[in-house]
Amino acid sequence: MTEPKSIDMLRLIERLYPICRSITGDGVRETLRILQEHAPLEIHEVPSGTPVFDWTVPEEWNIRDGWIKNPSGEKIVDFQQLNLHVLNYSEPVHKKVGLDELKEHLFTLPDHPDWVPYRTSYHNRNWGFCMEHRLFQSLEEGEYEVCIDATLEPGSLTYGELLIKGRTDEEVLFVTHICHPSLCNDNLSGIAVATSLAQKLAAQNLHHSYRFLFLPATIGAITWLSRNQDKLDRIKHGLVLCLLGDRSTFHYKKSRKGDAGIDRIVRRVLEKSGKPFETLEFYPYGYDERQFCSPAFDLPVGRLSRSVHGEFPEYHSSADNLEFVSEESLKESLAFLGQLVEQIEGEEVYINLKPECEPQLGRRGLFKAIGGQSDTKDFQMALLWILNLSDGSHSLDDIAERSELDPAILRKAVDELLKTDLLGETR
Ligand code: ZN
Repeated sequence: MTEPKSIDMLRLIERLYPICRSITGDGVRETLRILQEHAPLEIHEVPSGTPVFDWTVPEEWNIRDGWIKNPSGEKIVDFQQLNLHVLNYSEPVHKKVGLDELKEHLFTLPDHPDWVPYRTSYHNRNWGFCMEHRLFQSLEEGEYEVCIDATLEPGSLTYGELLIKGRTDEEVLFVTHICHPSLCNDNLSGIAVATSLAQKLAAQNLHHSYRFLFLPATIGAITWLSRNQDKLDRIKHGLVLCLLGDRSTFHYKKSRKGDAGIDRIVRRVLEKSGKPFETLEFYPYGYDERQFCSPAFDLPVGRLSRSVHGEFPEYHSSADNLEFVSEESLKESLAFLGQLVEQIEGEEVYINLKPECEPQLGRRGLFKAIGGQSDTKDFQMALLWILNLSDGSHSLDDIAERSELDPAILRKAVDELLKTDLLGETR
C-alpha cells in the first residue's frame, strides 16, 4: 500500500484560520468538511433541545456580519477583519447606543492593549464585542451604531468522528476540540495534528482500533458520551489533544486514575525522547479530559499539550495567530503521537497457539514469504523470538528488548504469523 501524501499541517491551519467556529453552526461544518478531504471522518448532527445528561444541546448559532460604527459613521470594529471581534454566541442586535451602554458590552485585554480577546457567551444571552484596549481607551462620547447579524435558533450540534478499525475492537481514543474561531494553537494545532495522525494510522495494520473525535468542547464531549455509553468499555487508552503547535515543551496531564496505562505509556515515550517535559496531576478543569474522567466513566484518558491553557499570554487572544504556531512544533507533536502509537501497539501480548516445540514454519510459507529481502535473517529470528516469548507474559516491546531486533521487523513478523494458525491476539 502506498502511503498517502502527508498533510501540510501549517497549510491546513492557514485554511481553517479565517473560519468562524463556535460550539454549533456552519463554521464547524465547514471545518469538518475540509478535514474530510484528508481523513474520512463522519459528520454527526444532534438536534438542539436534545437532553444530554444534565445539559441540553443548545440552539445553533450562525453569524454573517458584525460591526460598530462610531459617531462619525466609521466602522471601528469589523467581524469581516477578525471574527474574534464579535462575542462568540452573541445574540443578534442592531441599534444605536450611547458610550456608557456600549462599554457594558465591550471586552478588552488591558495588559495587552493591541490584542483582541476571545470571549464567549454560550449560556447567557448577551451581545458584545471584543476589541483592542488601545481602541477602547480612545472611544469618545456620542452615539454608536452596533450590528450583529447572527441567528440563534433551533438547529443542531455538529461533531466529527472517525473509527480506524484495527484487528481487535480494543480502542484508543483521540479527542480534540473544534469550537474555537480564529485561534491557531487553541486549537487548530490539535485539529491539524489529529487529522494528520488519523491519515497515517488509516494506512497501517494495527492491533487496536483508533477512534478520533472532533468535538465542540464540553457540550460536544458530553453529547458524544451520552450517545455512546455502550462503547465506553472498549476504550483502553485515551488522550485529549490540544495546544500542540506552540514552541513550549510537552505537558502531559494524567488521567483521573493517575496510574492508567496511558499515564505510564506517555511518560515512557516522553522519557525516551530525551527532551524536557512536565507531568501534571489530574484536576477537574481544563479540556474534555474532565468529561471522560467524570466519576461515572473514569476512563483512562489523559491530555497532551505543549503550553497549558491559560498559562501563556497569547491564550484566548488574537495573538494566538499564525505566527504563534510553528511547523517544527506541529511535526514534533505528530512524531510524538506516532511513537506513542508504536508504544501502545508494542505493549500488545500475543499467544503462541502451538507452543509444543517449534512449529514448521516452512510448511506455512513463512520463510518463503520474505525471500530475497536483505533483512531475511532478522525476519526469521523475529518469527522465532515471537513464537518463543509469546507465552502470555511478554509484550512485543519485551520481545524487542530481549531480541534486540528492530520493532518494525517484529511487527511485520507478527502480521505474518497472525495470518497462520500459529499466533493469536489476546483479548
Ligand atoms: Zn480554549
